[in-house]
Amino acid sequence: MILQTCRRHPSAGRFMATCSGCAHDLYDTEQRNRAEAAHRARLRTVLGLRHLPTPRPELGETDARRCVWDIRELDALYARLGGTVTTRQVERDYGGGTFSTTEVTLAVPTPDGGTVEVFTDWEPAAEADTLDLPVIRALHPVPVTVEPTVQDVAREDRGYWNDRYDD
Ligand SMILES: [Zn+2]
Repeated sequence: MILQTCRRHPSAGRFMATCSGCAHDLYDTEQRNRAEAAHRARLRTVLGLRHLPTPRPELGETDARRCVWDIRELDALYARLGGTVTTRQVERDYGGGTFSTTEVTLAVPTPDGGTVEVFTDWEPAAEADTLDLPVIRALHPVPVTVEPTVQDVAREDRGYWNDRYDD
């Protein structure tokens, strides 16, 4: 009888066939895979997709959280599914730098007691015609911090210089 040891789990001691540490890892991996598969199934159902693309972590996606194109697409999902709408300020990577934007998230409860999230970036200043969308009106209170647009900034700059020249 030859006893073995596991290089990955030296503390598991000597064993005949199966390292208890490896068995534990395998169990954890299977549980994780099962949970991820359940999340993906919920998302497929909620989004009405038969096939779900692989999540893009660089966009903040996970198996339970997906990005949609824009606030109108999110609004269409809200009209169909309901759910809870929240918002937060986020920093996005862009062209080697970052910019600050508003992320709107729709959390949708699923029949099996889970929750999936669908989110998109929203620029209230550039998309003023979207302020009346039900998904935006569902935000309480509406945390709209309308940043000055490029034109507004240019106008202020001109005003500043005009004032100077008027002196
Ligand atoms: Zn092991």
